[in-house]
Amino acid sequence: LTFASCGLPPKLLLNLETAGYDFPTPIQMQAIPAALSGNSLLASADTGSGKTASFLVPIISRCTTYRSEHPSDQRNPLAMVLAPTRELCVQIENQAKVLGKGLPFKTALVVGGDPMSGQLYRIQQGVELIIGTPGRVVDLLVKHAIELDNIMTFVLDEVDCMLQRGFRDLVMQIFQALSQPQVLLFSATVSREVEKVGGSLAKEIILVSI
Ligand code: AMP
Repeated sequence: LTFASCGLPPKLLLNLETAGYDFPTPIQMQAIPAALSGNSLLASADTGSGKTASFLVPIISRCTTYRSEHPSDQRNPLAMVLAPTRELCVQIENQAKVLGKGLPFKTALVVGGDPMSGQLYRIQQGVELIIGTPGRVVDLLVKHAIELDNIMTFVLDEVDCMLQRGFRDLVMQIFQALSQPQVLLFSATVSREVEKVGGSLAKEIILVSI
C-alpha cells in the first residue's frame, strides 16, 4: 500500500510528500484505508508509530470531499479529536496544518489556558476540525456555543491516558452530543477498560494492532 493508492486528494498527497512521508507506517497502512471507508477503529499504537497521521489523513480526505460535495452547507465542524493534554493537542494541530495546507481545511484548538472567546470566534468563522481536551470542549458544549451535528469522525487519542486522568464521563457527555459519528480510538495499551469505551461508542469496531 502507498499513500497514492488510497485515493487521497492530490493536494494532500503533495503535502505528505513535502513532509517527507514517503511510505505509510504499519499503523497507517492498516488504519487509513479502513477509516477512509467510514469504519470505526480501535488501534493499539504508541507515540512514534505515526498514529497522528493515521487519523489526520482520513479526516482531511473525508472533510475536503464533503465540502466539495456540499458547497452551500454552513461551515460547521466535521471532525473532532480529543486528547488528554494541551501539549498533545498543539502537536496534533501542527501536524494537521502541515497536512492540510492549501486545502479547505481549518482547525480550531479548544484547550484550557487560552481565552474561550477566541476559540469560539475561530469556530464560528468556520472550521473543519476541532482538536481539544475534554474539559474545555464540555465547557463550550454546555454553552450551546458550537454546532456538532455535522461531526462525522470522532477521535480519541491516548485513550488509556484519558481514562487515567478521569476523562471518561466528559468524553461520554461529548459523544452524546454527536450524531453517530465514525469513532477512531488510539491507545498505547488496550486494557479491558479501553475496550469497554470502544464498545460503548461504536456498534462495530475494527481492532488494529501492529
Ligand atoms: P506520531 O506517532 O503520530 O507521534 O508520529 C511520530 C513522528 O513520525 C512524527 O514526527 C511524524 O511527523 C512522523 N511520521 C508520521 N508518519 C510518517 C510517515 N509515513 N513517514 C515518515 N514520518 C512519519
